[in-house]
Amino acid sequence: MKKILFVAFVLLTVGFLFGAKYIVGVSADFPPFESVENGEFVGFDIDLIKAIGEEMGFEVEIRDMSFDSLIAALVSGNLDIVISGMTITQERAEVVSFSKPYWTADQSVVVREDSDFNVTVLFGKRNVGVQTGTTGDLWVEENLVETKILTGDFKRYDTYVLAMTDLINKNIDAIVLDAPVAEGFAKVRPVKVVAILKTYEDYGIAVNKGNKTLLALINEGIERLEASGKLDELNLKHF
Ligand code: GLN
Repeated sequence: MKKILFVAFVLLTVGFLFGAKYIVGVSADFPPFESVENGEFVGFDIDLIKAIGEEMGFEVEIRDMSFDSLIAALVSGNLDIVISGMTITQERAEVVSFSKPYWTADQSVVVREDSDFNVTVLFGKRNVGVQTGTTGDLWVEENLVETKILTGDFKRYDTYVLAMTDLINKNIDAIVLDAPVAEGFAKVRPVKVVAILKTYEDYGIAVNKGNKTLLALINEGIERLEASGKLDELNLKHF
């Protein structure tokens, strides 16, 4: 009996380590980390998780959903992994486990390209947008709304694509979002970055809390890609 159990355990472990497929959640409106181009998921995060999979022997299937449903989907078991430019925060780390950081970013303020706004667009009776559930959302809430520095509308959007459209259509005056992504939008839409808010955020890959095996695979994968120079290559490709 013990022998059978042992063999079953070995088979399960081998099956888990080789040829496993994990469902990976992204919010694909965050270029150059994740977006959809010609019906394909592309971006730094997409390449990174695929490269980790190749290195560590697992396949990935990408699923797109709104940013604020990612953690719930991970916790309920509908996703195995989340990679979505997700900042490691204390609050999130209470419900999911994060890999070692793979990126560092600040928040930024984006306005229409043809406007004269600067950082003061965040003060007074202006309308500011964010993506629901992001660290940009929290930053505006804590620093501008609760303090009554911002007295206009504070609008939350499901995606940055919707927020950008509302900004360009003059329904809002500014968006607060991660700086590298703001720069990405500024290249393809008529918007510009007018201020950087130093928040020093680290991005991590999330797995279900307690899934130590998968977390160890991901961390080992990141370390190998760092050591082989592949991470630098991805960096050059996307930034
Ligand atoms: N880094 C930010 C956060 O974790 C935004 C991520 C995103 O919108 N994809 O909240």
